[in-house]
Amino acid sequence: MSQENMKFEEMGLRNEVLKGIKEMGFVSPSPVQSQAIPIALQGDDLIAQAQTGTGKTAAFAIPILNQIEKNREIEALVITPTRELAMQISDEVFKLGKFLRIKTVCVYGGQSIRRQCELLENNPQVLVATPGRLLDHLKNDRIPNFSPKVVVLDESDEMLDMGFLDDVEEIFSYLPSNRQTLLFSATMPEQIQKLAHKILDKPKYVKITPANITNTDITQKCYVINEGHRDEAIVRLMDVFTPQKSIIFTSTKKEADALAERLVEAKYKAGALHGDMDQRARMDSIRAFKANKVNILVATDVAARGLDISDVSHVFNYHIPLNPESYVHRIGRTGRAGKKGMAITLITPLEFKELKRIQDEVKHSLELEELPVYEVSHNELVQKILKTKIADEAMDIYNELMDKHDETNSALKLISYILKEGTKSKIGPNQQEINRLQEQEKKPKQDYNSRRREGGNSRFGSQRDSHSRGFRGNSRGGRRY
Ligand code: ADP
Ligand code: MG
Repeated sequence: MSQENMKFEEMGLRNEVLKGIKEMGFVSPSPVQSQAIPIALQGDDLIAQAQTGTGKTAAFAIPILNQIEKNREIEALVITPTRELAMQISDEVFKLGKFLRIKTVCVYGGQSIRRQCELLENNPQVLVATPGRLLDHLKNDRIPNFSPKVVVLDESDEMLDMGFLDDVEEIFSYLPSNRQTLLFSATMPEQIQKLAHKILDKPKYVKITPANITNTDITQKCYVINEGHRDEAIVRLMDVFTPQKSIIFTSTKKEADALAERLVEAKYKAGALHGDMDQRARMDSIRAFKANKVNILVATDVAARGLDISDVSHVFNYHIPLNPESYVHRIGRTGRAGKKGMAITLITPLEFKELKRIQDEVKHSLELEELPVYEVSHNELVQKILKTKIADEAMDIYNELMDKHDETNSALKLISYILKEGTKSKIGPNQQEINRLQEQEKKPKQDYNSRRREGGNSRFGSQRDSHSRGFRGNSRGGRRY
């Protein structure tokens, strides 16, 4: 039997663990689970790479639970970047371990040290911790007889992004050397590989490629706009697609705040989520989104990564992501659990060159389209007008119009103007122009020799390039791993 289709019942798990899995409602293991669990059960070190939402938590929680002895000591440690993730993980371990009567403790910054010490004295078997606070406890010798048999580094790439790698490395100097170490990550940047080399012992590798996830359940769209029209374009797309629940990924925290504000002004239920917000504000945002009080989350990659929100209908890329993995990662937030999803990317002509690398990664060609106009129905428009609050400047304009026309004429002119400008106006280049720009992009910009001199810096190329082996080699060479 190949591990690919291995069932939970065939993994040699304890009955209590199988019951816990059933209780969680898991019928069959996800790909990363069916590959990682048997390796972890054998006691080997492991590096597992799989994108967000693929069930990595249970992939380490199940083998941990299977070897718990309940010997009044902490037997397993899970290190994870944020408090929210720590709480999610602790909750899942607790639920899976329900029939083993497992105790878990969460340790993170912002909570009182004394309270955490009390919890640690309760003899938990599993400790879930964020790096900073854990290191603080270890340095001050506040966790007696700390010698976990299994140590998990969860969401490792996010720890890197958040600048925790030094802390993580220092934590390992307090851990027993005969431990089993499991490293989980969605992407595998060089620094993580280096860290893995230092802290893992002859690890086995599991890598779940996302290609099969991205094609089937997610419709991918790319709309061409000009720089400076991103907010407007997002509002337009919201009007056109009326997404039930969406995440908009921005590159910066500032953009996230500004766009969320703009959407709120346009009467959308939007909220921001990024690393500059304090823990409480972030938790509030996530909770509101989960409870559908807010149905548009404007987020940066780091803030949104790893969060388990399963019913997202649309993902928007405010910019085309520079890193193809990040694209795959983001759009993987929709189309989960067999549901259909849509991923929409805004792209300016200057960003066309990024497209090729993304297409290579998702093995799917992305058509560039013009931004749709918003065909508002009469009824809808009437409702919108009726709901609009009267602005101060409106009175001045009204008076001016009345000087020149009668009321009916003014009103009809006004409505015609709204139809033309407000809803059906064009944002960005039209399809013809897009095709022309794309052709231009494909044409070699310089003569052959000068392009050669540019070498690996040129990440895109002519049509001819893309079919030659040399291009692929170059493109791969420019990637992060
Ligand atoms: P990751 O850490 O890879 O981002 P999670 O561990 O947070 O993913 O899991 C994502 C979601 O999938 C969670 O809601 C989890 O309960 C669910 N899940 C995990 N494994 C399974 C499974 N085998 N069957 C069904 N749902 C699962
Ligand atoms: Mg996870």
